[in-house]
Amino acid sequence: MAKKRTGIGQEELRRNNMSQLLSRVHLSGPTTRAALTQELGLNRSTIGDLSTALEELGLISEDAPVGEGRSGRPSLVVAPREDNAVVAVDIGVDRIVVALVALGGATLERRQRPHQRGEHDVVHVVESVAQMVADVRSARPEVRSHGVGVSVPGAVRAGDGLVRFAPNLGWVEEPFTAILGERLGLPVSAGNDADLGALAEHLRGVAVGRDNVAYLSGSVGVGGGFLVGGVPLAGASGYAGEVGHLQVDSAGTRCRCGNTGCWETKVGENELLTLAGRLPGGGPEAVAEVIAAAAAGEERAGAALDEVADWTGVGLRAVINLFNPEVIVLGGHLAEVFEAREQRINDVLDRWTLMTPRSEVLITASPLHGDAPLVGAAELAFTPLLANPASVRPAEAALA
Ligand SMILES: [Zn+2]
Repeated sequence: MAKKRTGIGQEELRRNNMSQLLSRVHLSGPTTRAALTQELGLNRSTIGDLSTALEELGLISEDAPVGEGRSGRPSLVVAPREDNAVVAVDIGVDRIVVALVALGGATLERRQRPHQRGEHDVVHVVESVAQMVADVRSARPEVRSHGVGVSVPGAVRAGDGLVRFAPNLGWVEEPFTAILGERLGLPVSAGNDADLGALAEHLRGVAVGRDNVAYLSGSVGVGGGFLVGGVPLAGASGYAGEVGHLQVDSAGTRCRCGNTGCWETKVGENELLTLAGRLPGGGPEAVAEVIAAAAAGEERAGAALDEVADWTGVGLRAVINLFNPEVIVLGGHLAEVFEAREQRINDVLDRWTLMTPRSEVLITASPLHGDAPLVGAAELAFTPLLANPASVRPAEAALA
């Protein structure tokens, strides 16, 4: 809600109001001036002035509503212009996804490429991403690119995007974000995949309107991103939320962090595959095969899924007791495990979780499926534009 405060300059006030208006139509879609006037708590002439300024910057369009039949002057509909976009990049362990995402959230172009172990060195990844970015941008030459957001499966330093540690890519202290920015000639920002997943669910997924959110994503490891009171939980330097390394079984096997029995050693993809008698390392396709086999009645696959579901419940219990989330969104293979064994996981939770937080939490598979980190990366890239729309480069100077 934009409010007048004392001690705030006219220029800053105007910037804040433009930011509010553009953010509103970016997240909620076309909105009438009348509704914006009401929702942002500003008067009609201010909304008119802000809309005109945003239209001149090429960020929104204003049109008469369709099907207008009533008397009186209709309220113009303010819509985000889809020829403004960012590039979203999701660096996974087994694939790279690049998408051109328009203001308003529509995916204009999308490319996906497998990338295997042995192709994870930073130079190779930067080159692959650069080719894919050039590809999506050349498919839509009329679109202005405002920046690039990247999701990385590891610890990313806030500020400069240095990848401190991404164990499943074998990256340690890699200035990936800076190298990519130099290669692309565009502003690049990067974040942890689970943190961006939480952001995506909060802005566009199942956690819209909910301020206490846990997003837990499983693949080889388990990542966690949290919103507490509507604010992303970062910790002292941005690395909070490593729920994969909650120790749940002191008699368990060795984790890649050095400890024994971490949650991800009990519920990670490779544990499910191994328990089911499959070779580890098969990725999402192999996991899907085990889940299908369990559904078809294969005993060993079913027992493996049961065991992973039980340990999933044990970790979720700790998350619920610690954070009292309104919603836990599961992504990656944890979403599939949950959908296949929801009752079993709920039984584990009902047994010992503290009663009040247990009764208040909604647990659900991500409606964005595997794309939550990608959607979050797009939102990360839009952040500077939304914070200060007037900073936009004029259309004629748009990046070629
Ligand atoms: Zn660990």
